[in-house]
Amino acid sequence: MACKPACLKAGRVGAVVIAPEEYDAAFMREALVLAASAAAAGEVPVGAVVVRDGEIVGRGWNAPITGHDPSAHAEIRALRDAAARLGNYRLPGCDLYVTLEPCIMCSGAIMHARLRRLVYGAADPKTGACGSLLNVFAEKRLNHHTEVAAGLLAAECGALLAGFFAARRSGRAA
Ligand code: ZN
Repeated sequence: MACKPACLKAGRVGAVVIAPEEYDAAFMREALVLAASAAAAGEVPVGAVVVRDGEIVGRGWNAPITGHDPSAHAEIRALRDAAARLGNYRLPGCDLYVTLEPCIMCSGAIMHARLRRLVYGAADPKTGACGSLLNVFAEKRLNHHTEVAAGLLAAECGALLAGFFAARRSGRAA
């Protein structure tokens, strides 16, 4: 086998070894499916999954309105789901895939959870805390352990949000 063990691990989903870009995209597509279920409930469509060793261990979609919970962002709900499943409030070795750039609250939770990696889709110029509005991950005084990758399937993630807001505007206009 030409691939080194570390490389194989990075590209493994179940028993199938795939290219690293496609590995990430597969999980972002799962997050997109969850985002669509948020939209179906009338919530801003954002979805997130937590992945460990190529397996989804946490799922979340945005639900602050239906849950009467200002903290019920997709990322927070996915982190809670993963932490409960793994029996650990810290999630070392886990990666979070989310369709929209995390806000300040979610970025803080990601750091507290000690995630290995954050991968997000669309940038959020209004509340994005990973480089758009501000970048808390660039703050060296914060002791965090998380790598950040931006812009994966950004067009698909952004289109879902744009479609949702366009439908909401036209609904209001009618
Ligand atoms: Zn958030």
